[in-house]
Amino acid sequence: MSKTIRHAEPAPLTTTTQPAPNSSPAPAATHLIRKVLVANRGEIARRVIRTCREMGIATVAVFSDADAGAAHVREADEAIRIGPPAASASYLNVPALIEAAARTRADAVHPGYGFLAENAAFAAACRDAGLIFIGPAPDVIARMGSKREARRLMAAAGVPVVPGYDDADQSDVHFALAAREIGYPVLVKASAGGGGKGMRSVRAEGELAEALAGARREALAAFGDATLLLEKLIDEPRHVEFQIFGDAHGHLIHLGERDCTIQRRHQKIVEETPSPALTPELRARMGAAAVTVGRRLNYTNAGTVEFILAPTGDFYFLEVNTRLQVEHPVTELATGLDLVRWQILVAEGHPLPLAQDAIRFSGHAVEVRLYAEDPAAGFLPQIGPVARWRPPDGADVRVDAGIQTGDAVTPHYDPLLAKISAHGADRAEALRRLEHALARTVLLGLRTNQDYLRRVLLHPAHLAGQISTAFVARHAAELLTPADQPIAGLSGDALAALAVTIHRLPERPGAGQSSQWRNNPGPSPLQRYTALRDDAGPAIGIRLAPATGNHLAVSIVSENQERTLDMLVHARSGGDLAVEIDGRLVHAICAEVAPGEWWVRVAGATHALRWMPPLPEPSVPSAFATAATPAMHATSTARRDAVADGAILAPMPGQVVAVTAGEGQAVRAGDPLVILEAMKMEYTVRAPYAGVVTSLRCRPGDQVAPRAVLLELHPLDHPSS
Ligand code: ADP
Repeated sequence: MSKTIRHAEPAPLTTTTQPAPNSSPAPAATHLIRKVLVANRGEIARRVIRTCREMGIATVAVFSDADAGAAHVREADEAIRIGPPAASASYLNVPALIEAAARTRADAVHPGYGFLAENAAFAAACRDAGLIFIGPAPDVIARMGSKREARRLMAAAGVPVVPGYDDADQSDVHFALAAREIGYPVLVKASAGGGGKGMRSVRAEGELAEALAGARREALAAFGDATLLLEKLIDEPRHVEFQIFGDAHGHLIHLGERDCTIQRRHQKIVEETPSPALTPELRARMGAAAVTVGRRLNYTNAGTVEFILAPTGDFYFLEVNTRLQVEHPVTELATGLDLVRWQILVAEGHPLPLAQDAIRFSGHAVEVRLYAEDPAAGFLPQIGPVARWRPPDGADVRVDAGIQTGDAVTPHYDPLLAKISAHGADRAEALRRLEHALARTVLLGLRTNQDYLRRVLLHPAHLAGQISTAFVARHAAELLTPADQPIAGLSGDALAALAVTIHRLPERPGAGQSSQWRNNPGPSPLQRYTALRDDAGPAIGIRLAPATGNHLAVSIVSENQERTLDMLVHARSGGDLAVEIDGRLVHAICAEVAPGEWWVRVAGATHALRWMPPLPEPSVPSAFATAATPAMHATSTARRDAVADGAILAPMPGQVVAVTAGEGQAVRAGDPLVILEAMKMEYTVRAPYAGVVTSLRCRPGDQVAPRAVLLELHPLDHPSS
């Protein structure tokens, strides 16, 4: 292992450039950081601010117009507006960020992850402006920003890389020859790629040309660089990565691994440490390979070396992420270290606080990423209001959230809302604790993957550690089916409708609990609701009649059946309710998100309902309803909604990246028509049936609202065609 030092805290400031011998006092920092500008938003900005505050370092938040009221802005010591909502005009606006640092006399910049975190030009611009960039050197960022260069460098250093093609010749012919040599299936990757963008699996030669074209286009749009490479597609792999840390004194260590195998669209949703797949011997070999990678780069600060692990136990280098990872909390939970603190110490010029053999790992830690997305609609990103956010509490549960009640999730940024992590003595305890924490989490106003993640965590195959990156696809049916646990025979939607009706009962001013309903004149009119997911679906009717004390006689009308149950209201305050049904206490939390649109958390699931006015009347859209409701509506029914009388509709709000069909063109079912991008996700709208494009209604660059008409497609087999 490397020459490392054993003290846990940095020594007082003096200057030396020599690596410290293991037992001597620490060499000194060369700078004392007093104020950090956090060039990011959301949970990671808050995470960095927290450690800065603990270290006595002042912070400057930056914000776009969409984030003026955001939590990270409130929590920082100072905040500077850097532009309009679009990321390109704000969080990616290098001159605005450098100017914000100058105006506030910050002496360092923390980039977080995403946005400019792996942008070598930004790191260099900070350095040129006399700012300390809390991250690795710009040249290392630049070299690792190219998957092609990283592969070549690591192969030369003897680190195993996936068999593949990374030559400069980018012609389709060469890719086809290389793919044949590597053997199908292959994976097309964007050299500048990240976040799964520009990646296409290709099972057979016939699919290669479309995959190359798609990956080039996506890579050019996202990274301004269309360079591609090919890799052998490893079957049933795991993703195992190592956290590395280096300092300017020649020390380089690793802080163990993270297993990030559970992914959708090549993006992680669950991460854990230690990896259930590693034996001590394999861990030692992979850890040594990660350290070799770091040394080869003279790496400083925090980085992550990603590997793909084949079922055979062979592992291959994937890439180095030159920043703090989203999933760093699991490493912090298992090691008890604060990685942001280490980043700051290293940036100040201190040596690493601990030597490799002083790093201790305890128990098991698991993190899930709570995303604004609808798993039932192919994980389509969602926007909407955060009408109620109540994160879980509890020992050994950690929440890193960017949101607060009253926020709005907009299409401008990544749909990551929060990360929830749990620590346990062993894997089973950590998983159970995390699932329980998720069950207690309340987020009303937009669809998320909250309950999907709960099903992932406790899925028998996941509990048994039998996972690969194919887990989400393989177990789709079970993972997408909510385990509805009816209470007194009532479905979740019926319970939700009941909760809303009770919540809306007028309060009698000054009425004591026991006399709450006594003077109520008679049964209330029937209140009808439909599930927002399925507006055309069956209505649920609820009628309340007062009984004695806090008892209610509740009639539930559903699909022409009427049942009456006796219920006892224990508590009612704000949107929170506690109702006894059939001897069982049921808690519910309700929020009205737009007029007549209700979100309810009850019996371990979140339900969205639309109240149906007694007489048909035009609905009054709220400021949000126009933006958010259609997107939510478009979720589970995205496929069905994609067509209306020959019109092909946008399934989500976003920007048109490309229009791949022309007017008058005949297309087959499944052919790509329009490519949309929103919230860092690209979505291909495909022809739902064979037809002729009669009218194009969008152009590349257009911003489209959800359910906007993209084009008209006249069916080929239509009787009148
Ligand atoms: P990005 O930088 O876009 O995140 P990576 O190269 O890190 O791309 O890969 C992301 C994910 O894609 C991996 O975690 C893994 O699930 C999958 N993947 C990458 N390379 C391969 C491969 N050669 N074979 C199989 N799966 C792969």
